[in-house]
Amino acid sequence: MKLFGHLYAPDDRGLCLVTVEEGRIAAIEPAEPGTEPADAIGGPNDRILPGLLDIQINGAFGDDFADPAARMDVICRDMPRFGVTGFVPTIVTSAPKVYGPALANLAPRSRPGEAAVLGVHIEGPYISPAHKGTHDPAQLRLPDIREAATWLESGSVLWFTLAPELPGALELIEFLVRNGVRVSMGHTDATWEQARAAADAGATMATHLFNAMRPFRHRDPGVAGFALANPLRADFIADGNHIAFETIRLMARAKAPDDLILVTDALAGLGMPPGRYWLGGREYVSDGTCGRLPDGTLSGSLLPLNRALRNLVVECGFEVPTAVACVTTNPARALGLEEELGRVEVGRTADLTVVDENWDVQATISRGGLAYGAAAEVSR
Ligand code: ZN
Repeated sequence: MKLFGHLYAPDDRGLCLVTVEEGRIAAIEPAEPGTEPADAIGGPNDRILPGLLDIQINGAFGDDFADPAARMDVICRDMPRFGVTGFVPTIVTSAPKVYGPALANLAPRSRPGEAAVLGVHIEGPYISPAHKGTHDPAQLRLPDIREAATWLESGSVLWFTLAPELPGALELIEFLVRNGVRVSMGHTDATWEQARAAADAGATMATHLFNAMRPFRHRDPGVAGFALANPLRADFIADGNHIAFETIRLMARAKAPDDLILVTDALAGLGMPPGRYWLGGREYVSDGTCGRLPDGTLSGSLLPLNRALRNLVVECGFEVPTAVACVTTNPARALGLEEELGRVEVGRTADLTVVDENWDVQATISRGGLAYGAAAEVSR
């Protein structure tokens, strides 16, 4: 298999011919316009990117990951249509009995020609009632190491979002970090000092920065100010609804480029027509761009990852390599997966996404297998 286009690995390599053999990247050669092989995927106006990674996503194609019946075969098959080759499903705040079956359903998998499940993100239930967003208030609870330990037995929990100001949270952070789980501050009312205590205990990330957290104020910078001013990795949503594009520009000026992680925080309505869907047992309404509870409370996004990536470049003024890193190398590094994922290099597993000038996905290759092809001549 050969791919032709402007390679962002994510660093800018210029026009290249990329050869894939036996599931791996066999060669990367500089190319000239007009020299593309007839059977190559892509063209001189297309961009070749590392396969996109979405480390915070609640569901897609009608199914919610907190539902143990979510159809992972369908979702892994169809996610590459958005350029995604790997994702980390989120289990939002749920009743205790949900976690075991949901974790079993979300067991990591990685097969050629489909998006991989890299592990699981647990968001809640140990979060602030003041910033619960659309999490079920009836299921919020205080940090409980014994309960969390049962979830870790699945072996698939990669990261965890909690509110560090809750009683027992610092002990839970230390426990999770000791067990190899990344901890992120989110859905939280933490002050600067409480955020600092969480970072001292081992928390390294902030979840959907600015959304569902104590707001930044000039005399009370809070967890948002702490995350901006310190080397925490911050994930954020770029649909234009959750935070202003100007706020993303501000984040990009304040933070090291390596610490920015673009996520969709997408809901079950992703890839579906507007309508009513479920998140963690609560019904919300999708208007096709975002989800809201009947009272108007903003839930997750419905913007596909390749469109959000486009927004970083077109609406937020990011250089292309910086934007691409936010959905490839940066999330891989945040979760300790950078040796395997997030870069285009000879010898690496062939996870590749080809987009056109408008950032529309033309083809997605996962573990060397064609997972999605927009053009009629590209067949499985
Ligand atoms: Zn959230």
